[in-house]
Amino acid sequence: MATVRLHDVRKVYDNGFVAVHESSFEVQDGEFVVLVGPSGCGKSTTLRMIAGLEDISSGDLLIGDRRVNDVEPKDRDIAMVFQNYALYPHMTVYENMAFGLKLRKFPKTEIDQRVRQASAILGLDAVLDNKPKALSGGQRQRVAVGRAIVRKPQVFLFDEPLSNLDAKLRVQMRTEISKLHAQLKATMIYVTHDQVEAMTMGDRIVVMLDGYVQQIDSPLNLYNKPVNQFVAGFIGSPSMNFIPGTIAMENGAPVFTNAEWGVHVVLNANSAYARGLTSGQSVTLGIRPEHLSLAHGPDAGFAATVDVTEPMGSETVVYATLGDTRMVARVEPNANLKTGDAVRLAVDPAEVHLFDATSEASLAMLHDELVAG
Ligand code: ATP
Repeated sequence: MATVRLHDVRKVYDNGFVAVHESSFEVQDGEFVVLVGPSGCGKSTTLRMIAGLEDISSGDLLIGDRRVNDVEPKDRDIAMVFQNYALYPHMTVYENMAFGLKLRKFPKTEIDQRVRQASAILGLDAVLDNKPKALSGGQRQRVAVGRAIVRKPQVFLFDEPLSNLDAKLRVQMRTEISKLHAQLKATMIYVTHDQVEAMTMGDRIVVMLDGYVQQIDSPLNLYNKPVNQFVAGFIGSPSMNFIPGTIAMENGAPVFTNAEWGVHVVLNANSAYARGLTSGQSVTLGIRPEHLSLAHGPDAGFAATVDVTEPMGSETVVYATLGDTRMVARVEPNANLKTGDAVRLAVDPAEVHLFDATSEASLAMLHDELVAG
């Protein structure tokens, strides 16, 4: 197994479009790292540069201690699993898995041993003689993974491998790939646009937007300490709520206000985000749906109008309108609300996030950086 390191890797396509700006991160030996972001953010381009399927315009790519910028894909000791499986339709499952080893002139007995080992791990023994068209989507995906496993590569690369599967199978294959990672202890880099997939599978996640790496962190740190409004809104479902407003100082304590929408939240003066706040500062308040609750009494919280409620059994998800924005709250299961109801929503000030209105950077993180720097 091996580490993968990117130093200031950049990709400019022939038409001049910069798909990946100077991108640097390190994948540890045996680590499962997920690249995630919306369509067009450059995650596939990054993976394809690691695979050697796209040239690197500048920067360094190292697998282990070897700089591989100019090394042919077949000599990089990596295996890639694609979204469309890329199986050979005229070959059986066995032949599909054996093919790469045959090309590399492995002895027959070694090929047989590796194919049977992978087949046992992936539960494909019963279908080894079948052609791909006789397999379910999940089985085809497993064959594609098997073809990678038999190579015993230093690094596994996955490009949206589950997006052709139905929702239930996707959840099941997610668990299977995680189990496989634990079993093989292999270095894996996995691309998806699905933040839930990223959160449930990754040891660490690289969040990308418009060709820039936004944040690299563990799933929980991304959730609890997003560096900016994009990461805060992208990670978590339902998404974080955002309210634009201004800081006021009342009796020496910072308060978030949006007078037009009737929002007045006394902030926690000891929080990292609160230090350095100034009166009149334009900010955006970020609140996770689970940190909103139904408030009772005319002065508690702020008023919103219920659009839709989703009774989930374990909780009720309430979608409500506040000013010209939509709020989502996760509240108690027996909340008896209907469309058009006026509700009051209360905020837990210890759990809110504040972002600079212009740069959208997290004020808590900016504060941490100032302290650390
Ligand atoms: P998706 O999930 O839609 O595949 P992505 O995050 O993987 O998105 P990339 O496929 O890496 O995005 O593409 C990043 C950007 O580069 C996109 O804006 C895309 O249009 C552009 N791009 C991709 N390939 C080329 C190319 N050959 N020439 C020019 N631009 C390209």
